[in-house]
Amino acid sequence: MRLKDKVAVITGSASGIGKEIAIIFAKEGAKVAIADLNLAGAEATAAEISRDHGEAIGVAMNVMDEGQVNDGIAKAIEKWGRLDILVSNAGIQIVAPVHEYPLDKWKLMLAIHLDGAFLTTKAALNQMYKQPEGGSIIYMGSVHSKEASPLKAPYVAAKHGLIGLCEVVAKEGAKHNVRANVICPGYVHTPLVDKQIPEQAKELGITEEEVVKNVMLRETVDGEFTTVEDVAEAAVFFASFPTKALTGQSLIVSHGWYMQ
Ligand code: NAD
Repeated sequence: MRLKDKVAVITGSASGIGKEIAIIFAKEGAKVAIADLNLAGAEATAAEISRDHGEAIGVAMNVMDEGQVNDGIAKAIEKWGRLDILVSNAGIQIVAPVHEYPLDKWKLMLAIHLDGAFLTTKAALNQMYKQPEGGSIIYMGSVHSKEASPLKAPYVAAKHGLIGLCEVVAKEGAKHNVRANVICPGYVHTPLVDKQIPEQAKELGITEEEVVKNVMLRETVDGEFTTVEDVAEAAVFFASFPTKALTGQSLIVSHGWYMQ
């Protein structure tokens, strides 16, 4: 077991990538707090994990709300006495061209992705700095942390911003044994992507099949979606890495869509 007795908080883990990370973390021996806007979904995921894999709790958390972030992280610490891993994963997507993008939607996108990462990081560091072992912070970036696509201005801006936040946390956290890294997945078939396919087809004036083949997967080496399991495996790698040799990094898991 690569995460035996580690305590993890994973945001946005009632669904998709975050849910799979919670499952694999539990299978690897971690105790996991499923922190999500969708409390019913978080509790259902926690019940599923508790039944099949290990210890889990569901906590209500809107990552944009400082009080809810602090309360949610405090619940995990109260229950298990420490915090070893934060996965800042909650996110949404709203597509539109820049010249039509509504300011309120732009602000919402930046708040979920950047305020959410900042607030959860701040709360986690305040616990991790008290522990001699420190901890591991993992941000869910994207290939869009590295390059752009049309219709996604705030998403691309925010995902690039996570790399900057991660690098600062890696530098500030080092003396407290805190590491910070970013996972950058390609397209993963989750509800977030399912919703985008018809929206992009409409915006671009092409069919849904063309969106998948010619927009989402065109640059991959094999025309395949990345899976939630692929991303979760990268999260275990970052979370379990034993030394500060691996910090301030971003790992692209995208079937070769983006290579660096
Ligand atoms: P998803 O829609 O399946 O899950 C997102 C979860 O986040 C949901 O459970 C939702 O309730 C929760 N959430 C939304 N807003 C929240 C908020 N304000 N506070 C707390 N929780 C909130 O999406 P997913 O595809 O699993 O995406 C997870 C992360 O992975 C996102 O950051 C996304 O940008 C990133 N990502 C996804 C893909 C992809 O192709 N699916 C690719 C690269 C990166």
